[in-house]
Amino acid sequence: MQLKLLWDLQEIDLALQGIKEDIDNAPLKSGVQEKAEALEALGAEWDISDANLRADQKQMRELEMKTQKTIDTRKELYESMYGGKNVNVKELEQQQRRLDQLDAERKKLEDLLINLLESIEEQEERIGILYEQLKQDENKLKQTEAKLAEELELLNGKLAELKVRRINKTGEIDSKLLNKYRILAEKHQGRPLARVDNDICGGCRVFISGALRGHLYNPETMVYCENCGRLLVIIED
Ligand SMILES: [Zn+2]
Repeated sequence: MQLKLLWDLQEIDLALQGIKEDIDNAPLKSGVQEKAEALEALGAEWDISDANLRADQKQMRELEMKTQKTIDTRKELYESMYGGKNVNVKELEQQQRRLDQLDAERKKLEDLLINLLESIEEQEERIGILYEQLKQDENKLKQTEAKLAEELELLNGKLAELKVRRINKTGEIDSKLLNKYRILAEKHQGRPLARVDNDICGGCRVFISGALRGHLYNPETMVYCENCGRLLVIIED
């Protein structure tokens, strides 16, 4: 019956290996990394857009101040020109040119302001959309992370359960046989035992010779496949 126990052990070991692989692959399969990277890129885009917007808003305030200053200066000049003070014609002409200059400056500043305002509005709209997307992507990432954590918890639970089963199983098996199993397992990539089905080795799909077949049904004998070297077992369904 020891062979059957070894077979059970191999089944447990294969299951353990599968669970370990599932645990290793779970983060990549979940898409968490991908989503986190996309979110980071989006965040960087938002940072740049936000910085640009703030710079433009600052420039707008400066332009507004400049415009106001031009308006004030013009008003002062106008009042001094037509405030009843006596000035000569030449001086008046000079002041009029300065007035015209101030008007042109104001017009220029106002045009700049209008353009800047339009650009700011567009940026604000774009940032609003970006922000919404950021929030959405953040939520999706959180959901994916939660799902992954749940899955890992489940897998780790199975892993722990299998480890206990393995300890119990090895307790039933003779230590010499266990050693043999370990050595064979290394040689055969974790599948040291092969089940015989219809006189075919389940490990390499080669027929078992008649000479070996006779020994197979003796539970005290260890029979190895002549082709692949695996320990042959008969498992009744
Ligand atoms: Zn074989």
